[in-house]
Amino acid sequence: MLDVRRWLFGVFNYHQGMWPLLTILAVAVAAGIHFGWRQKFRRQQRQLQADMEDFQRREQQTAVDARAQQQVLFNSMLEGLLLLDRHRRIYLANRAFKNLFGLKTELRGKTIMEALRVHDLAALVERVERDGQVFDYELKLPELSERWLQVNAAAISNSAGEREGTILVFHDLTRIKQLERTREEFVANVSHELRTPLSLIKGYVETLLDGARNNPEVAERFLKIIERNTQRLDLLIQDLLTISALESGQVKLNLQPVELRPLVEKVFTDLKTRAEEKEVKLVNQLSDLTALADAHRLEQVFANLVDNAIKYGRTQGTVTVGGRKTDAGKIEAFVQDDGPGIPTESLDRVFERFYRVDKARSREQGGTGLGLSIVKHIVQNHEGQVWARSEPGKGAVFFFTLPEETSGD
Ligand code: ADP
Repeated sequence: MLDVRRWLFGVFNYHQGMWPLLTILAVAVAAGIHFGWRQKFRRQQRQLQADMEDFQRREQQTAVDARAQQQVLFNSMLEGLLLLDRHRRIYLANRAFKNLFGLKTELRGKTIMEALRVHDLAALVERVERDGQVFDYELKLPELSERWLQVNAAAISNSAGEREGTILVFHDLTRIKQLERTREEFVANVSHELRTPLSLIKGYVETLLDGARNNPEVAERFLKIIERNTQRLDLLIQDLLTISALESGQVKLNLQPVELRPLVEKVFTDLKTRAEEKEVKLVNQLSDLTALADAHRLEQVFANLVDNAIKYGRTQGTVTVGGRKTDAGKIEAFVQDDGPGIPTESLDRVFERFYRVDKARSREQGGTGLGLSIVKHIVQNHEGQVWARSEPGKGAVFFFTLPEETSGD
């Protein structure tokens, strides 16, 4: 131990002259180490910064991707979706929502009144905020063409129970409403059509029972009226059953090659008496045409059209049936009369159920108002089209197309 101390003392004495040099050397080494460390520290700091920026960029990209995915998902929804923030400003509106309201501009940040101007909707949002949720709210849009929407809405809260906004889901009810209305109108029309002959029958039966039966002449006249109205009821019920079967898709067509000329001859034979009563000439101009059709249903089409042409045509007039092959490989048939024709504004409407140009005339002729509707359904079931042309005063022509029978080619 003593030896070591002595040795150190010796070394110290020996190097006493070099002390300043050693100090400078030590300082230089320390500075070198310091700068080295600083460089390293800066490099590490820069790397850390770059890593942080990269992480933030990726975070931002993930958020953008998530938002884009969310938008794709929301846009693929059939229902309209609207998200409002806590200030009742639009945060998100999907494509279906914009379509429902016919909007093309950016909606983000706008209030409902700024974006849509629908007071009822703004009031609904207030109700949702108050009640927490509202289901099956029916909203009628104030447009020219009527639109109905069903809205389900709920307030959104965070985990602390604070209100974050409102979510509203819109479902287009317009078609259902239209169907409902059509059904209601149909029921009202059917009731009305049934009530008229029924009340006549009831009235005449009561009069007969009250004593009219004792006068054979009067009794016969009344019984004939009863008979006519019973037939009308029967016809109406038959037509209603046909329409309902055709509309519900229950009717299976028995498609087979049908030669049109002999089919129309048969229809003419069945309607001969009616034509003779009005001295109407029936002309069959059909040549060699064969359609792929259900013979029974096709006969119904021709019978309805020829019957109408006799009914609404001219006394001593002519009813002509003809046809041709079209360039599109279809058969186009027509039934023409030379009566007073149909007003232009009614040409499309005559195919609607119970639509009549002249109600009194149709009833007087024993019409149910369903004939052309049945024609339209049968032709459409054959994937054909039906339409009418008329120049008032110059008669009416009804056209329809059918698939052509091609297996013999
Ligand atoms: P209806 O049982 O009243 O004849 P349709 O559906 O067959 O019912 O016809 C609807 C309406 O179309 C008729 O009431 C009539 O006003 C009009 N119509 C149909 N065919 C003709 C025609 N050939 N000429 C003039 N009007 C017609």
